[in-house]
Amino acid sequence: PIVSGMEVDEKPQASYDQIGGLEEQVVEIKETVELPLKKPELFTNIGIEPPKGVLLYGPPGTGKTLLAKAVAHETNATFIKIVASEFVRKYIGEGARLVRGVFELAKEKSPSIIFIDEIDAIAAKRLKSSTSGDREVQRTLMQLLAEMDGFEARGDVGIIAATNRPDILDPALLRPGRFDRFIEVPVPNEEGRMEVLKIHTSHMSLDEEVDIQLIASLTEGASGADLKAICTEAGMFAIREERSTVTVADFMDAVEKIIGMEREEEMRRE
Ligand code: ATP
Repeated sequence: PIVSGMEVDEKPQASYDQIGGLEEQVVEIKETVELPLKKPELFTNIGIEPPKGVLLYGPPGTGKTLLAKAVAHETNATFIKIVASEFVRKYIGEGARLVRGVFELAKEKSPSIIFIDEIDAIAAKRLKSSTSGDREVQRTLMQLLAEMDGFEARGDVGIIAATNRPDILDPALLRPGRFDRFIEVPVPNEEGRMEVLKIHTSHMSLDEEVDIQLIASLTEGASGADLKAICTEAGMFAIREERSTVTVADFMDAVEKIIGMEREEEMRRE
C-alpha cells in the first residue's frame, strides 16, 4: 500500500456471485453505484443527478467490503479502500491532506470506487468537548465533505462508505448530495446462511453426509465472515486428522469453536 490504512486494487476480482444472501442489496447497489458509472447518459437524458454517495450499514463481517469490491469489478473500476479509523490514528494532522490525495488518486485512476470503511471514525456527531484530536478529526471530515460537494456525480468516481454505527454519524454527512442513499447489510437469515455456506464450501471436498441446511440451521446470528471461518476451521480439522474429506463432525466442531469465540468476544465487549 502507498500509505497504511489504504489499499488500491486496479483489478478487484470479487463478483456478485461470491456474495450470499444479499440479493436485494445487490440490486440496490447496482442501481445507485453501477448504473451511474456504466450509463451516465440515462441520468443526463432524464435530467436528474445520480446519487453521489452510498452508505452501507450493518454488523461487522456481513459483506459490505465484498459488495463494494464487486461493484468495482463489475464496472472495471479501480478499487480504492481507506480505513477511516487508521487514518485518524496514524496520520495525526494529515487527515485532510490524505483525503484530498485519495480523491485525486481516484480521478487519476478512474473509473474508480472509493470505499471508506469505518467512516464513523471521522464522521461521528460533533462532541461537546473539543480536544485537539477532535479538531483534527473534524478537519478530516470537513475535507471529505468539501471533496464530495466539489465533484460531479456524473463523473466516473463512485463513493461507498461503511459503518456499523449509523446512529452516531454527523447529519452533515447524510445530507442530499453527500451520502444520501442507505443500504442495510444485516446478518443473514437461515436461507442467507445456506447461500453463504454454499459459496464457501463450493471448492471443498465434503463427505456426502454433510448437510449444508443443517449447518445453516445451527448458526443463527452468524455473519458471512463467521460462516467462512467455520468452513475453514472444518477443513483444518480434516487436515489435522489426515482425512481427504471434511465430515459432519468436523463442521460440528468448527461451529462450536467459532460460535464459542464469538460469544467470548461479545462478553469482552459488554
Ligand atoms: P467489516 O465491517 O468488519 O469491515 P464487512 O461487512 O466489510 O465487515 P467483509 O469484509 O465483506 O465484511 O467480509 C469478510 C469476509 O467474510 C469476506 O471476504 C467473505 O469471505 C466473507 N463474507 C462476508 N459476508 C459474506 C456474504 N454475504 N457472502 C459470502 N461471503 C461473505
